[in-house]
Amino acid sequence: MRYSLLKILAEGLKGNTGWTPVWRNPEPREAYDVVIVGAGGHGLATAYYLAKEFGITNVAVLEKGWLGSGNIGRNTTIIRSNYLLPGNEPFYEFSMKLWEGLEQDFNYNAMVSQRGIINLYHNDGQQAAYLRRANAMRMAGADAVMLSQDEVRRLCPFLDFDNARFPIKGGLMQPRGGTVRHDAVAWGYARGADERGVDIIQNCEVTGFQIEDGVCRGVETSRGKISAKKVAVCVAGSSSRVMSLAGMRLPIESHVLQAFVSEGLKPTIPGVVTFGAGHFYVSQSDKGGLVFGGDLDGYNSYAQRGGLPVVEDVCEGGMAVMPMIGRARLLRGWGGIMDMSMDGSPFIDRTSIDGLYFNGGWCYGGFKATPASGFTYAHLIARDEPHPVAAAYRLDRFQRGAMIDEKGMGAQPNLH
Ligand SMILES: Cc1cc2nc3c(=O)[nH]c(=O)nc-3n(C[C@H](O)[C@H](O)[C@H](O)COP(=O)(O)OP(=O)(O)OC[C@H]3O[C@@H](n4cnc5c(N)ncnc54)[C@H](O)[C@@H]3O)c2cc1C
Repeated sequence: MRYSLLKILAEGLKGNTGWTPVWRNPEPREAYDVVIVGAGGHGLATAYYLAKEFGITNVAVLEKGWLGSGNIGRNTTIIRSNYLLPGNEPFYEFSMKLWEGLEQDFNYNAMVSQRGIINLYHNDGQQAAYLRRANAMRMAGADAVMLSQDEVRRLCPFLDFDNARFPIKGGLMQPRGGTVRHDAVAWGYARGADERGVDIIQNCEVTGFQIEDGVCRGVETSRGKISAKKVAVCVAGSSSRVMSLAGMRLPIESHVLQAFVSEGLKPTIPGVVTFGAGHFYVSQSDKGGLVFGGDLDGYNSYAQRGGLPVVEDVCEGGMAVMPMIGRARLLRGWGGIMDMSMDGSPFIDRTSIDGLYFNGGWCYGGFKATPASGFTYAHLIARDEPHPVAAAYRLDRFQRGAMIDEKGMGAQPNLH
């Protein structure tokens, strides 16, 4: 079903009785050309682009829970392409361009809202680093503006400029950054893939891989064996667990990241604001709630919930930069499992097992990558060669000393 203004008016008159389910609920078949493991944002986007861009429609997406139950429905919805390194920036800018046409492309309202993102800086060294990053962004075709303290004050008068532990000196702004309604992204891609013939199979956990003579020939699932010419894993926080079923050990640790929403407030925050002297980022949803987050919980876990010390730590970060947040009541908090790689950058690559592909290691930043990740993963699966903007995301980059360490932190996943 195509959505249009006319359709909404007609359905309004008919008492909304004509809407059909957004995707089918098919039984798994015995064999597919491609099986994608994980119906998060990346799995669904991969299926969509495989069908739309590469004409491969004999595809199943297998999901152990319900569609969107993972991080695609748990993130703080921030999109941006404000990266520094050549391995990253062109990829994230490609993603930004896909976001910009996405709603028209899949005919679904994903509330793409480019209200801008401001990274605050608090000292001269940080200003110099942000200037360098702004130049790298511009060279990759992205937009970047350095803001003075007065310009930040005009945009965000609620920040504490005068009495703060870490005085705000200015900011790096990406006007095209912003937020997107996260679960609508999953639904839009699911609908687009389904209408092109992809089977999305929920409540179907992959429990093993059929590997013969170094070739992956399918998967074992809680609903039986499914053969496939190619198997593409993208299970985010479950990456290590799932790939261990194929005998692979990944340079990834799983950690919990929490997010929070306050009660609804009048429009206050113009876009996304991030604290530069601690870990705190905030935006305001269309319903008025402040949506914010901060650090990882700091221990390895596969639980989709976090602990109270980090709630306190994140709120302290908020209080340090905008003390007025202390008067807002916290409504909800939740956690998601983050696939933290050792250099903070992702993987989109073939594995040493023929026919088995891997996509993961998205750390804090996989939501904004969803369109580019899906597109470039589909490219890799269809053509067996990496897409140029994702060519650096190889599994062997640690062996080759070709890390993409955006923050220069070293092999400390909790610091990326
Ligand atoms: C609190 C929080 C805030 C975040 N904020 C941002 C942000 O503001 N901006 C940003 O860019 N990124 C953000 N992220 C990161 C982003 O959400 C993730 O990097 C991204 O969603 C991961 O990709 P995905 O959508 O495919 O993952 P998921 O939605 O987690 O998809 C993986 C799927 O695989 C399924 N699965 C696992 N094991 C199996 C199995 N054995 N068989 C079948 N299926 C399986 C899972 O059930 C899950 O549905 C945030 C994450 C969290 C948790």
